Amino acid sequence: MDTMSNILVIGSLNADLVVRAPRFPAPGETISGEDLAIIPGGKGANQAVAAARQGAQVSMLGRVGSDSFGPTLTQNLQTNNVDTTHVYTDASATGTAIIVVDASGQNSIVLSPGANGKVTLADVDAFPFQEEKMLLLQLEIPLETVTHAASLARQNGLRVILNPAPARPIPDSLLADVDILIPNESELQLLSGQSVTDTDSAKAAAHILLEKGVKTVIVTLGANGALLVTDEKTTHVSTFKVDVVDTTAAGDAFISGLAAALLKGKSLEEAVHYGNASGALAATKFGAQPSLPTQNEVEQLLRR
Ligand code: ADP
Repeated sequence: MDTMSNILVIGSLNADLVVRAPRFPAPGETISGEDLAIIPGGKGANQAVAAARQGAQVSMLGRVGSDSFGPTLTQNLQTNNVDTTHVYTDASATGTAIIVVDASGQNSIVLSPGANGKVTLADVDAFPFQEEKMLLLQLEIPLETVTHAASLARQNGLRVILNPAPARPIPDSLLADVDILIPNESELQLLSGQSVTDTDSAKAAAHILLEKGVKTVIVTLGANGALLVTDEKTTHVSTFKVDVVDTTAAGDAFISGLAAALLKGKSLEEAVHYGNASGALAATKFGAQPSLPTQNEVEQLLRR
């Protein structure tokens, strides 16, 4: 295979601490659950691993804590062929997600950002932009850092992809530096201030963001695939029918599948199709990073 150009991911690394229990405990109550599963997660690290499994050369920039989870998460990235030269160790705790899953499969999550909240503008400035073609950003690290990273990446000629998750308001100055914005329906609703209920309202909301300088908006629609919106046209791209087990990290798989396809020279529409395949496969397995598909798995589904 020819070497692909680099993807830089600036974002979060989390340890997902998952316990299945018969039901959620009431306030003040203690109940027993199954054995604890410690699963590597965090949107930044998920997208880095997903892109590497699609054959891209990936570097991750972020922070872990000075506890035992830090080296675990860093080594996990290395095992997945992600360069961790710019994953720094912070004095605080590693980011964690405390997740309880009940018998019906619903989950209840407390997120502790820890070291993810300490990724600074200086961390970004220390990155030696070289071969990178694309920057993947999400919103689990400080907004000032995300905004600065987008601006610096743009200056260095990288294509900037922002997944505005978890949903929070973002400044117009950040939107102006984004090439491809990938929100789900609720994130699109929050960013545009418009209610999103169907294709027409999603298109209208996406156009509000295009007017702020975003070049392309891709709205992920779960089992309905994705809507690709540019100034010129709007295209709905259906996804694949799969047996859904857990949609955790489906969005992350979608984004990295799309990014890897763009690096291979695919058109935006083809790349969305590739993203759908990657997202659909991630929904067929439990957990965040263990569910992220390989390039082979995605290509097999695309051939079907
Ligand atoms: P998020 O999980 O970030 O809210 P979505 O639910 O929109 O994002 O899912 C992201 C992508 O993953 C979708 O665009 C689709 O390609 C894929 N996907 C998610 N859920 C399903 C599903 N039930 N069946 C098939 N594909 C899915």
